[in-house]
Amino acid sequence: MANPCFTQIHPTCIPVSGEYQSKLTLMSESLRNDGRVWVPKKQDDAAAIREGKKTGLEIPEADRDYYLERRYPAFGNLVPRDVASRAAKTACDEGLGVSPTGLAVYLDFDAAIERYGKSRAHSLNEYNADDMRIRELGVGVIEEKYGNLFEMYEKITGEDPYVMPMKIYPAVHYTMGGLWVDYNLQTNIPGLFAIGEANFSDHGANRLGASALMQGLADGYFVLPYTIGTFLSQEIRNPKVDPEGPAFKEQEARSQARIDKIMGINGTKSAETFHRELGKIMWEYCGMARNAEGLQKGRRMIRELREEFWSNVYVPGRIKEYNPELEKALRVADFLELGELMMLDALDRNESCGGHFREEYQSEEGEALRRDDEYAYVSAWEWDDKDPILHKEELIFENVELKTRSYK
Ligand SMILES: Cc1cc2nc3c(=O)[nH]c(=O)nc-3n(C[C@H](O)[C@H](O)[C@H](O)COP(=O)(O)OP(=O)(O)OC[C@H]3O[C@@H](n4cnc5c(N)ncnc54)[C@H](O)[C@@H]3O)c2cc1C
Repeated sequence: MANPCFTQIHPTCIPVSGEYQSKLTLMSESLRNDGRVWVPKKQDDAAAIREGKKTGLEIPEADRDYYLERRYPAFGNLVPRDVASRAAKTACDEGLGVSPTGLAVYLDFDAAIERYGKSRAHSLNEYNADDMRIRELGVGVIEEKYGNLFEMYEKITGEDPYVMPMKIYPAVHYTMGGLWVDYNLQTNIPGLFAIGEANFSDHGANRLGASALMQGLADGYFVLPYTIGTFLSQEIRNPKVDPEGPAFKEQEARSQARIDKIMGINGTKSAETFHRELGKIMWEYCGMARNAEGLQKGRRMIRELREEFWSNVYVPGRIKEYNPELEKALRVADFLELGELMMLDALDRNESCGGHFREEYQSEEGEALRRDDEYAYVSAWEWDDKDPILHKEELIFENVELKTRSYK
């Protein structure tokens, strides 16, 4: 695994509404092209909104904090995802969240509706259009651009975002880290190639623009067709592999033993329950903002959870039938190891960069503080049950200069 701590958080998701929601619904980032992000300036107003005594519409313009526009005048609401996500967390941590859970900020299209309405009225030669007509025209433009997203939002939340400002909150979205691969996209297992989101190859701590398509194309279209061919051309001299050979038997026996072990535990907690507990630990201690103490605690908690999993998981059904619960339990067993590795990697990286924000390493204004002198390396981890081993791969820049970008 390489760079497992680099995780992107998506700022534009529908906020959590209860304990049993497995994950937040992502909406398109295109919404931030026109929506303005804000929270009330006063904690009292935010509390009144949370308690249902006020709505966002009742907060006058002067009492709203368009915090992205204030903090990042050059980029405003279009700052990168990690910056927008952290800023939403900061606002909610300060008691300014606007949903009953306290975990939501507004994404408001009112100004866009007015702007588009005026512009369309002009293009229709309706120079004396009144406010109602302007609003009607503006809503039409917003509907053309984002109608499907607005509909989805209304279906999920029961609120009409053309009238009430939308509520959003960040959620985990993309793993920039992943399986270690070489330049040919081959993992450390000869013949096993990994492409797309599963590998770590293209992104570093940030995601590159249009990245899923870019990585899908780069890996699957430009690289793999050539590198797999090279691998196979060398294999041609090897005799046909015998699936009855000892290596197959050994691996089959190992997999069977793992399955038998998991089925034999017969404990009291489902794999789903462990998955949920793991998710909470990850979000709490290895989420948008991390610190050494929290990461150490999180790692300990995961180890305890892993121990409990291997002594108390309950998997219903039988082995020799279609058993999705067994499949899930085997995945959760993997996630428990991966989660620990993410904590460890985040702990090792004593700097803030892209999707990894360590609270100890921030500027006075709360911005990420990179430490290129010490951490310009890929962290490639070799799994070991007790103490995973870190291999550092230095990053060497020959044609570009390593710089920190400012969004101010
Ligand atoms: C809601 C949402 C919105 C997104 N929006 C954007 C966006 O706007 N822009 C953007 O760039 N990215 C976006 N992403 C991210 C992007 O979709 C993913 O990064 C991308 O699809 C990853 O592609 P992939 O081929 O690497 O992996 P996947 O698309 O995850 O493909 C992996 C495949 O492997 C299969 N598989 C898994 N395990 C096994 C197994 N054991 N055996 C056989 N098959 C298996 C899976 O079923 C799946 O079909 C979004 C993601 C989500 C969830």
